[in-house]
Amino acid sequence: MVQVPFLDLNAQHESIKDQIMDAVHSVIESKNFIKGPFVTEFESSFAKYLGARHCIAVANGTDALFLALKALGIGPGDEVISVPNTFMATSEMITASGAKVVWANINSDTMQLDTESVTSLITPCTKAIIPVHLYGNIVDMEPLADIARDHGLSIINDAAQAHGALYKNQSLVAFGDITTYSFYPGKNLGAYGDAGAVVTNRDDCAIKVRMLSDHGRTEKYIHEFEGYSSRMDAIQAAILKVKLPYLEKWNEKRRAIAREYDAAFSQMENIHPMTVTPSTLPVYHLYVVQVPAPRRDALRKHLLNAGIQTGIHYPVSLPYQPAYRTKALEDRFSSVQQQANSLLSLPIFPEMTDKQLQSVIEAVKSFPLS
Ligand SMILES: *Cc1c(COP(=O)(O)O)cnc(C)c1O
Repeated sequence: MVQVPFLDLNAQHESIKDQIMDAVHSVIESKNFIKGPFVTEFESSFAKYLGARHCIAVANGTDALFLALKALGIGPGDEVISVPNTFMATSEMITASGAKVVWANINSDTMQLDTESVTSLITPCTKAIIPVHLYGNIVDMEPLADIARDHGLSIINDAAQAHGALYKNQSLVAFGDITTYSFYPGKNLGAYGDAGAVVTNRDDCAIKVRMLSDHGRTEKYIHEFEGYSSRMDAIQAAILKVKLPYLEKWNEKRRAIAREYDAAFSQMENIHPMTVTPSTLPVYHLYVVQVPAPRRDALRKHLLNAGIQTGIHYPVSLPYQPAYRTKALEDRFSSVQQQANSLLSLPIFPEMTDKQLQSVIEAVKSFPLS
């Protein structure tokens, strides 16, 4: 039986091991562990890759969101619109900034922010929108940018799952004030620990984020304001710099796998792959299908018995989380939770072999879905 893990960090490491070890070794030899040339080099190469003016390397993707909100001056009394089907970090950092989380609807086919639902949620307190480019699919940015412009709102892209994704042939950085990335090990571009980045074309935001991430400093012992300690360490930066040149190839491999899955499932009933937003180039951080509950759980078990690991992103939507749950939220977002109950993420990673891919397809096809 072919074993299919959900992702295979070991296979990826093996393919670039010598370069990684050299990079780590250089950092240790240099003793430039915090800030310094390794971090600066990664920042400029990531900014260049995205066609952006500035990249600030930070401690993780969660901090990146927080620093973006703070740099835009968002705080108590403000409201920020985002989506209810994202990872906890997005809403958590809105709350941490002092602002109130407001959840919009999601498009049930693309599983992304339904931009049409945003306008009716705008109040005099609304300051920003955080579109989350979930699963490596892309939010329809042009209508959203129009809404933001008409109402004087900022846009922060949560691109933690969308490294290298394009909207109308441009990186997401072109469609918002600030774009944030996570380099959590399992992301499309993953570090060997925690790491994140804030990317922007706005000079004012770049200066603010860099100072906020480093105790509000302009010089070593001069603090313009109180900030935080959130820097990417040099070992992670050196590793990411080694991995960045492979990202395009890895994303292309993810798209090739997704095409095969799409083709295999297109004639099947009761399994609906995520629809890609028109005019975008997705990067398939995850390959998500909807299978009506309760067949979803039975299929998941069937796959596990066939040696295939799967995931659910995410099993409990934010309005149903113990941290937020109220009767009113549960009523308003019942369809979002219903969709969560039907989600299944199939294995997709650049090192996936054709044998592994075919074994997933066969296992899904051999399962009665109705
Ligand atoms: C991973 C992720 C984050 C948080 O990133 P960390 O680096 O783990 O802090 C934020 N938002 C989304 C959508 C994510 O997937």
